[in-house]
Parts: sequence; structure tokens; C-alpha cells
Amino acid sequence: MWLGHLPSLEPHLWNHFDIETVMVSAYEIIRNRRVYNEVCERGIHKYLGFDGLIIMDSGGFSFQKKDELDVDPEDILELYEISKPDLGVVLDHPLNPLEDEMKNRERWLKTLQNSDLMLKNGKIPLIPVVHGYSLEDLKKSCDDIKNIHENPPIIGLGSIVPLIFKCRGSKKFKNSVNFIIDSVRMVRKEFPDSLLHVFGIGSTKSMHLMYSLGVDSLDSMGWRLKAAYGCIQLPGVGDRYPVNKNNGRPSLTESDKELLSVCECPICEDKSLEERIRLLDSDFKSRAIHNAWVFICERDLYHQKLLDGSCFDFCNERLKTGFFSKHFSYALQEVVHQRLDSVNI
Ligand SMILES: [Zn+2]
Repeated sequence: MWLGHLPSLEPHLWNHFDIETVMVSAYEIIRNRRVYNEVCERGIHKYLGFDGLIIMDSGGFSFQKKDELDVDPEDILELYEISKPDLGVVLDHPLNPLEDEMKNRERWLKTLQNSDLMLKNGKIPLIPVVHGYSLEDLKKSCDDIKNIHENPPIIGLGSIVPLIFKCRGSKKFKNSVNFIIDSVRMVRKEFPDSLLHVFGIGSTKSMHLMYSLGVDSLDSMGWRLKAAYGCIQLPGVGDRYPVNKNNGRPSLTESDKELLSVCECPICEDKSLEERIRLLDSDFKSRAIHNAWVFICERDLYHQKLLDGSCFDFCNERLKTGFFSKHFSYALQEVVHQRLDSVNI
């Protein structure tokens, strides 16, 4: 789980508790001259004061969103090489599910050109990213990347986030989460020896669905975004507002309060339940640190359940209610079908 970090902003999570991995975006660095100069001068680890692993994402999605994708792959490579993150991501042009197929195809061709240039010339380890809004396109995109690098150590799957947020109610992508499940399975199969990273889909619930499909790593800015909206995270529970302000938004139930009362994050520890609620309601930074802690605890819990063999029951419990419940059932049906197929063979 690579927690997204905005280079010039607080909180610096690693100053509050142990984390091993963060993700920063080249877009956020390039758009701020002062940050860019300092990152280039000192290197990204020294600039952040963080000695764990850092992925630098190209920020293709943000450049595209701001219509500023005139940045060259060479510029991104240069930033990677000067600032020395542990891993970089190929400059990609993410697809848009609401755009026509021709435009999306052009985007993939540009991504492919960048992948070719960057993978052949890059001096730090780079993650190529595949994209596709049909299994046929995605298979083609996997084949295209294999033509450049047969067996990349890490492969990324991108363009997934808009399928969740932009496609609700869209006819074309009625079952967009089921399509994501099929996509993850396909990329997992196409690159059996590569670590699989799925970009931008690591909420405290979706992470369990993704990990159970064989995804090795995820990234998320959710800990921070949810804090900015005033929400806190709790294990196995959806977004909650610490205080009921009678505006129809979900606030803490009695069982949520029990979960919060045993939180051991650096914000909650040594405080009464009332103090925790007051602080989490009033202070963004406290919410962000608490949320990030919950993300990391959920990741660790998945790992622990995987090791002790109780992963299925754990995921079932975490995903049985809410948005992902029917999709987890879909993922399980597919597993049953695959098993039956293999028995028939
Ligand atoms: Zn806490």
C-alpha cells in the first residue's frame, strides 16, 4: 500500500508512525517551481526526509485533467533520474470511459510510444502501465508492452478509477466493477511473474477485493481526501463523520464508537473517546493521520489473515455489506466456475 503524499503539504506521515512506502506525483513537483528545484537539488528522499521506498508516478492523469499533457516523457525521465525515487512510472495517457473509442485508442498509442522510449532509456526501474476498456483492448495492450519488455518486474493497471466514479448509471459500463475484476485477472494471467500494481483504487474496502484477486500493491490518496471532506475511517466501516450535525451524513454509531475507542493511532492513543471525537471533528491533520493509520492497519490485517489461512472469512466479513458486496460475490462465482472448468478438464 503506497500512501499518496503531496510533496509540499503536511502531514508527513512518517514523522507520526512507521510507514515503509509512499507515492508522489511528478505532476505535483513539476507544477511548483520551488518544489521542483529543491527536489532536483536534494533528491526526493532528502527533500521529504523519508528513507523508505518512494514511487514517483508520472501524474499522467493529473496532466490530462488539466489539459496540460504537453509534458515530454524525456522531462519526466530527467526528473526521475535527478531526484532518484526507488521506482518511477511510465508517462501514461489514461483513458476516459466517457470519451469515444478512437480518442482512447490514440491515448494508448501515445502511452505505448512513451513506454518504448522510457523503458529503453530509463536509468531507474520503471513501471509500465496497461490500459483498456474491453478485455480485447486490454489483452492487446498487454501484448504491446510485452513486445517492449517481455517480463517487467512490476506491471501497472491504469484507468480504473474513472470506471468507479464516472460510470455509475452509464449504460456502456453497467457492471464496471465486475469489468475491473475481469481486467485484474487478465493482467495477472498475462504477467504471471510480475508484481501487479493497480493504480488509485486502494480504499479500506476495495483493497481487500483487490488483494484477494492477486494484486500485489495499490496506492491511495483516500486517507487525505476523506479527511479533507471531514470523514474518518474505521476498520470494516464506511466513511463516517465524527459528529452528527443533523445533515443526513453518516456519523458514528454506537458500534463505530467502540471501534474508535480502541484505535491505537498516534492521534487517538492516550485520549478519552470524547477527546478523540472532538479532535477528529475539528482538525484536518488529525483526521488524515488517523485515516492513514487505519489504511495501514487494514493492509497488515489482510496480510496476517493471508498467512494464517483465514483470508476468505476475513474478506467475506469486510465486503459483505456496502458497495463492493455484490462484486465480491461475482469474484467468488468466477472462482467456482474456474474450479469446475479445471475439474472437467
Ligand atoms: Zn485513531
